[in-house]
Amino acid sequence: MNTVTEQSHPALLGSLSPTVPFEEVINFSPGPTSLPKAVEDVIAASFQQPKLTSLALSHRSPEFLDILNHAVQSIREVMEIPDDYEVLFTLGGGHGQFAAVPLNLCHDATDVGTYVVNGTWSRRGRDEAQKYCNAQTIDGSDPETGAFIGFPELTAENIDPESKFVYICSNETVNGIELHRLPKLPEARKHIPLVIDASSDFSTKPIDWHGSNVGVLFVCASKNIGHPGVTATIVRKDLLGEAKASPLCPGVLNYTITRDAGNLWNTPATFNIEVVGFVMDWIAEQGGVEEIERRSIAKASVLYNVIDGSGGFYGTPVSDTSLRSRMNVPFNVAGGDEDLTNRFLIESWDKGMIGLRTLTPFGVGDYLRASLYNGITVEQAGKLAAFMQDFAGRNAQAA
Ligand SMILES: *Cc1c(COP(=O)(O)O)cnc(C)c1O
Repeated sequence: MNTVTEQSHPALLGSLSPTVPFEEVINFSPGPTSLPKAVEDVIAASFQQPKLTSLALSHRSPEFLDILNHAVQSIREVMEIPDDYEVLFTLGGGHGQFAAVPLNLCHDATDVGTYVVNGTWSRRGRDEAQKYCNAQTIDGSDPETGAFIGFPELTAENIDPESKFVYICSNETVNGIELHRLPKLPEARKHIPLVIDASSDFSTKPIDWHGSNVGVLFVCASKNIGHPGVTATIVRKDLLGEAKASPLCPGVLNYTITRDAGNLWNTPATFNIEVVGFVMDWIAEQGGVEEIERRSIAKASVLYNVIDGSGGFYGTPVSDTSLRSRMNVPFNVAGGDEDLTNRFLIESWDKGMIGLRTLTPFGVGDYLRASLYNGITVEQAGKLAAFMQDFAGRNAQAA
């Protein structure tokens, strides 16, 4: 194959516009990405109505208040959020919450926050928090290689009893490590609330809010529940209170100000909030998070089965199956062989399977990644699995 042509192929530049008919495109991007087809249809239909859409409504109009209330109520119902939690819609994405968490939970910069760092996103959250609190780290990297492939044990020894919170990312989007259920802290640290970055797995499994002592859980919308621009931040009420936050906490990041203003302290991301409500309605119609979890398991299993059954042609970094992400399946081709990896990307792209290697702030690395959020069906995951099997059959000799 001509190397020059190959290097400039749009698939290798991260293009998301393959030449197949649009109905055949399958978007495996890590986010932003496609929403379920039925939700995209609801959005399109909302623009055909002879009335103002959320893009044009004043955020203080009764029409928008209905949309906002619906979004809050539907998240509450779908995720079974108890009454002692507030559902806030915040701006600034996941990164905004990296700062907001310590700014709201630590009054002084000397207050301790304990960070479990077992992947790129928890590391980024910890790094941002270091500006605002005494961020202590429980290192979850592999002691031998430094790679992120697991989750550390949480013990009374490695958690400072004075911690204002213990911070965990429940799905490490880049590394493919997922906690299928939230952990419980050891008895002697039970008083410390968990802070969860659930940006890439929220809505795909139940959450035991009280049982896991969740204090704050945030989810940037652009993976499973909507479009970039809004973040759902769910905060237990006892953690609110003007006196608890840092006096330097900006108003737009302040949970108490946001709550007191009913999510309308400043202009929220109106359209994006409406879309979150549409996604929650869709989940309820499908049978709730239990059904979404069943589908997520089915989608991920079909890919991991091909990887594990490929005799080493494909590899995936996380060997502990209880921690393998159902949302993001990282895999390499022939140990990262550049020629075969490029061929894999070009051939799959030519069939309409896109987003398997996108550029991230963490570089590309050897691994490709199939993201299986709510927009991907079980059948579509099966198509990728079938392609992977076929590609391995044709190329395993060359590897
Ligand atoms: C995407 C992602 C983020 C970053 O969110 P932004 O909205 O881009 O700030 C944070 N955490 C996790 C786990 C993510 O997957």
